[in-house]
Amino acid sequence: MASSTPSTRRNALEPRVDLHLHTHHSDGTFPPEEVVRRAKSLGLTTISVTDHDTIAALPAARAAAGQALEILSGVELTATSHDRELHILGYGFREEDPALCEYMKDARDRRHGRIQAMIDRLKEHGIEVTLQEVELIAGEGNSVGRPHLAEAMMKKGAVRTLNEAFDRYLGDHAPCFVKQAILTVAGAARLIRQAGGVAVLAHPHHLVEDGWIPELAADGLQGIEAYHSDHDSSVTEHYRRIAQQHKLLITGGSDCHGFRKAKGPLIGTVKVPGACLDQLKQTLKGSDPFRSKRV
Ligand code: AMP
Ligand code: FE
Ligand code: FE
Ligand code: ZN
Repeated sequence: MASSTPSTRRNALEPRVDLHLHTHHSDGTFPPEEVVRRAKSLGLTTISVTDHDTIAALPAARAAAGQALEILSGVELTATSHDRELHILGYGFREEDPALCEYMKDARDRRHGRIQAMIDRLKEHGIEVTLQEVELIAGEGNSVGRPHLAEAMMKKGAVRTLNEAFDRYLGDHAPCFVKQAILTVAGAARLIRQAGGVAVLAHPHHLVEDGWIPELAADGLQGIEAYHSDHDSSVTEHYRRIAQQHKLLITGGSDCHGFRKAKGPLIGTVKVPGACLDQLKQTLKGSDPFRSKRV
């Protein structure tokens, strides 16, 4: 499309994409309407809201977006591989898919028990926080997670910043971390793909060893999130090359959590080539002939 367009208009027609965004339905701070408002004011043309274990933001996001902004269904699931928790993004799936919806509901329910287990560990470290306090911070969102717990710890004065809470207590290798994933990567990919979606490995940097990629692809992962706010240009190029080598899709997004992360709202700050979206849509069209009414 762009090649037949005069170069002066090419930028205006180039899709502007952010495929990794959180709302207050999980650990972002913005309601879906605010994410959409910001996306529109930044001139984005397609976004995906990828909350942890929930798609509750989608109806409000769609209603706010109207015709002006395309919204691709999205979710971020947690899965284990090599004894680590990895994040798997799902895109373009059928939102009413029973198996996926049931899994997400279970996962959200389990999050409460897991946070309680982390609270018990914090107590051993002299930090008193209650589940009710954490749930109050999660508010609207029923997908309670470590960032909400970190905020409760900040309120109690146990830590000064979110980063300190993760570094000292809650991070994947810190003393009060409790795993939550019950899915394998193959299980996560299967859930997303049987719902007509595409499964993508989120922000692999510092989490995934390059040597695991062929195995993850064999497990059903179809893409790698090469463009991400934690990836500088050389890291992005590295994952672009790996994706090409293994014939995987390349995707990207900011992973905006509103004001929860120290860097502030990141929406629209990661430039994702329009070709990434085109290829994702091509794959979605091919993946399930009964779907894609919105893609
Ligand atoms: P959970 O779903 O409860 O395991 O929490 C995962 C979320 O915690 C991620 O999506 C990030 O928003 C946040 N997170 C993970 N690691 C860190 C870290 N080291 N510093 C700050 N936030 C983090
Ligand atoms: Fe998050
Ligand atoms: Fe993530
Ligand atoms: Zn995320």
